[in-house]
Amino acid sequence: MEQTFIMIKPDGVQRGLVGQIICRFEQKGFTLKGLKLITVDRPFAEKHYQDLSAKPFFSGLVDYIISGPVVAMIWEGKNVVLTGRKIIGATNPAASEPGTIRGDFAIDIGRNIIHGSDSVESANKECALWFPDGPVNWQSSLHSWIYE
Ligand code: UDP
Ligand code: MG
Repeated sequence: MEQTFIMIKPDGVQRGLVGQIICRFEQKGFTLKGLKLITVDRPFAEKHYQDLSAKPFFSGLVDYIISGPVVAMIWEGKNVVLTGRKIIGATNPAASEPGTIRGDFAIDIGRNIIHGSDSVESANKECALWFPDGPVNWQSSLHSWIYE
């Protein structure tokens, strides 16, 4: 089953949005396979965002991600990478639809409260980076009520 890496950024944690964000993924029917509150250092944040290292906003982005604890998660389910991105909304909250996490809770692109992997390939890389011991191995007893 597909997995994705979701991170509530320091602003989402500071603003007390952790519960509401987790709720949206749970309510959809996705399964939580990893969860930790963690403050990362600069080299780790730079590694996570290495594909963006040439962008002008890169150092500000890294400052932002290391500015406080983040909630790192693995979520599992059918099409969870793409659907997770839809639940999160467009990168710039000014363009995120109402009903999405960024559309409902954020205003500025540099304070958009949440990260989600953008492809299955990056999801696998990011899950391995953030959870080197792998996901928690369990099966939800709701499986047959969510999948036909
Ligand atoms: N970002 C920014 N300014 C920009 C573009 C992106 O501060 O002009 C930040 C923003 O926090 C975004 C992150 O960099 O979430 C990663 O950018 P990406 O294009 O990967 O967007 P995402 O995948 O998070 O939607
Ligand atoms: Mg991205």
